[in-house]
Amino acid sequence: MLEKVVIANRGEIALRILRACHELGIKTVAVFSEVDREQKHVFLADEAVCIGPAASAESYLNIPAVISAAEVTDAVAIHPGYGFLAENADFAERVEKSGFKFIGPRAETIRLMGDKVSAIKTMKKAGVPCVPGSDGPLGEDMEEANRIAKEIGYPIIIKASGGGGGRGMRVVHSEASLRNAISMTKSEAAVAFGNDMVYMEKFLEHPRHIEVQVLADEHGNVIHLGERDCSMQRRHQKVIEEAPAPGISDTIRKDIGERCVEACVAIGYRGAGTFEFLYEDGKFYFIEMNTRVQVEHTVTEMISRVDIVKEQLRIANGEVLQYKQKNIHFHGHAIECRINAEDPETFMPSPGTVEHFHPPGGPGIRVDTHLYQGYKVPPHYDSMIAKLVAHSETRELAFARMKLALTEIVIEGIKTNIPLHQKLIDDAAFMGGGTDIHYLENKLGLK
Ligand code: ADP
Repeated sequence: MLEKVVIANRGEIALRILRACHELGIKTVAVFSEVDREQKHVFLADEAVCIGPAASAESYLNIPAVISAAEVTDAVAIHPGYGFLAENADFAERVEKSGFKFIGPRAETIRLMGDKVSAIKTMKKAGVPCVPGSDGPLGEDMEEANRIAKEIGYPIIIKASGGGGGRGMRVVHSEASLRNAISMTKSEAAVAFGNDMVYMEKFLEHPRHIEVQVLADEHGNVIHLGERDCSMQRRHQKVIEEAPAPGISDTIRKDIGERCVEACVAIGYRGAGTFEFLYEDGKFYFIEMNTRVQVEHTVTEMISRVDIVKEQLRIANGEVLQYKQKNIHFHGHAIECRINAEDPETFMPSPGTVEHFHPPGGPGIRVDTHLYQGYKVPPHYDSMIAKLVAHSETRELAFARMKLALTEIVIEGIKTNIPLHQKLIDDAAFMGGGTDIHYLENKLGLK
């Protein structure tokens, strides 16, 4: 097995990776910023290295600092978690050039999927269904752009090829505003992503967000672990996720899963990955691939009984996948609430000291968190502080379990979005299943 792994992340995912490593007998190195000394995983790691000041640009995004932490501790591999450097192809490349294993896909795969135009082209070729669109970058020719838009039919959406995090997109309802939308998205993209390439897609009005989890080893074996529904979003940020997705039959699951597996084989994918789709009127439309572990991998783990992070480590160790598709079975239903340190009404971040913390418990309850009583949530990073997961035999029972857990959990000293989750878990339409990606914002009166 890998001897020692650097965990290039913080918070709950750093702790999640640390646990998986220790379970497999792998030593861990925590890297942390100056304000993160008191993190739970830093205490629990075999070694810990401070890699810079609070600002992520100078610590968690500081490639030379992370790589030298691996050098001084004689680590053999680096796990990037999610966010920060996880989808940075240059980082993956430099990690491997420095003689360490990058726990994720090859740099060229990250690069291919990080550019949406090339990702879509590749997926289309591999038989993955995509949104009708320009099939490539939009050039200067407005006549051509008008023609494509007319052919697809308004509304359409202009998207930056290098975009991410829900930024670099603009919806267009008529030809009159097309030219302006293209040039504005282009100039914004140039500034934000250093790449002004944009493309066009049909704008789907009431889609759900459904994504497929895959695992691939470096020997060409690939499996899928079914799908998750992540439609409950605010500002393109997922708030609640569940698996399986309501209303997706075994046949549909098998079909879309197989297409993702075939695409992985076609591109020589390695590691854990997620195919994100919009799903409308019974059809899947690929929007992007995430080449890393995701926040919501937990719900898939609960229903598939596969430990995705341990599999990432085994794959990085060069092992053959221990599962075949026929060994993957799904059990019950799981739902995850992302608990954020934020005001439940205004969504303003609420950093500070956790005065009291009582996690909920009981059968089927999982809490992935780095919180402890006295922990100080710093203001510098993402506000997610815990993931509360409930698993049970049916969707209804999983909701009931989540509802109980949300009444048991106590986090005091900082504001959290627990009241929002309590409202949502009781929402009749959500409980009915199949609400679209606009549902939450509409409910909150934001649209
Ligand atoms: P990012 O990489 O920024 O997350 P995505 O391509 O994944 O960008 O899109 C983010 C979100 O934008 C989607 O989850 C969806 O809400 C919306 N979106 C993107 N493309 C479309 C589309 N063609 N039609 C409708 N909504 C879309």
